[in-house]
Amino acid sequence: MGKAWKGHREEMKPAMWYISGFLVVVLYLYLSAIQYVRGIQVDFSYHNYEHMTKLLQDISREHPDFALLYSIGRSVQGRELWVMVVSRYPNEEPILKPNVKYVANMHGNEAVGRELMLHLITYLINNYYTDNYVRWLLDTTRIHIMPSMNPDGFESAIEGQCSGGQGRYNARGFDLNRNFPDFFKTNNKQQQPETEAVKEWLENVQFVLSGNIHGGALVASYPYDNEANNKKKRPSLWGMKVEKKILKMWGDQQRLFQH
Ligand SMILES: [Zn+2]
Repeated sequence: MGKAWKGHREEMKPAMWYISGFLVVVLYLYLSAIQYVRGIQVDFSYHNYEHMTKLLQDISREHPDFALLYSIGRSVQGRELWVMVVSRYPNEEPILKPNVKYVANMHGNEAVGRELMLHLITYLINNYYTDNYVRWLLDTTRIHIMPSMNPDGFESAIEGQCSGGQGRYNARGFDLNRNFPDFFKTNNKQQQPETEAVKEWLENVQFVLSGNIHGGALVASYPYDNEANNKKKRPSLWGMKVEKKILKMWGDQQRLFQH
């Protein structure tokens, strides 16, 4: 009886099974390690709130030495206004390490900036050890990236609809880009939770440089680039210089792509 059982046992575990088992373990280890070898990858598609949130949480969990996720508040419909700090040791705030920020998707249907920011976060983290410039940036700067200031608007925008206002506004129908106080004009619009959150954020963190990314037109705006209604419109010299420079960069870029 014992002999028969032994024979049966040998038949169930031939050498091939051990080899197969070994290969499965190796494959499992490889797949587990691939993220560390290749870095976190962001696919080239639009990320809705749920996917974006998961991606940001995964990145900050996997790379705590480079990424710190926080929220500055919630949108009208209760979505978190996520910000990722990308920096070497993001939990530390040494003196003279400047804070800079990028805000995208303030108009919910201008979605390319939102995706660009997700790619920028992963690009910076994945290239720290291989790109000297990226390493220098993360060693010397705290880069705060907000992929979406208007997550409610994004959810109501329609993919493929590249003009029109669907998704541009927040859930109460306010244009967030016309909702901040204005130096030259009184703004009587009711302050929205997204705007309040950003204002409080700016009071708490001393940003030395910022970019707010829109879509749909080739325009460069800069602080104090408007003027009081009763003044005759006259473009500032500095503004013209900035726009000329951006147009030149755009032209150079186009030539680059043609090659
Ligand atoms: Zn815009």
